Amino acid sequence: MEFVSYMQTALDEARAAAGRGEVPVGAVIVSPAGEIVARAGNRTRELNDPTAHAEVLAIRSACEKLGQERLTGHDLYVTLEPCPMCAAAISFARIRRLYYGAGDPKSGGVAHGARVFAHPQCHHAPEIYDGIGSAEAEALLKEFFAERRD
Ligand SMILES: [Zn+2]
Repeated sequence: MEFVSYMQTALDEARAAAGRGEVPVGAVIVSPAGEIVARAGNRTRELNDPTAHAEVLAIRSACEKLGQERLTGHDLYVTLEPCPMCAAAISFARIRRLYYGAGDPKSGGVAHGARVFAHPQCHHAPEIYDGIGSAEAEALLKEFFAERRD
């Protein structure tokens, strides 16, 4: 099967999040058949919810749509390395493959910090592909934080 990247859709969600004044991170969940099941951007400010990260919102939306508590065989695309909370949610959801863009040395929990999927307590680790569309994801984040500092 030909590899189709859904990172552009995730980047669209990240841009939409920036437009709402949220940290620009976007996520997309793709079914085993290659269909987009859910897409989301950060909404922590809008929802007054510190857990409303793009990945968590996308997982909730996909599970609700499918009427199931796990997303076995599904892939998740996200523009930024997931934090430890989202990495744990990805594990609980049994996501098959995780594609992420920019690495996040400050708050990431996959290649940095808690390294959730490498932990012995982690019962399911997805296949991980990093650096997909990372330049664009990094540029979005830099632009967003530069504007806030002014
Ligand atoms: Zn997160």
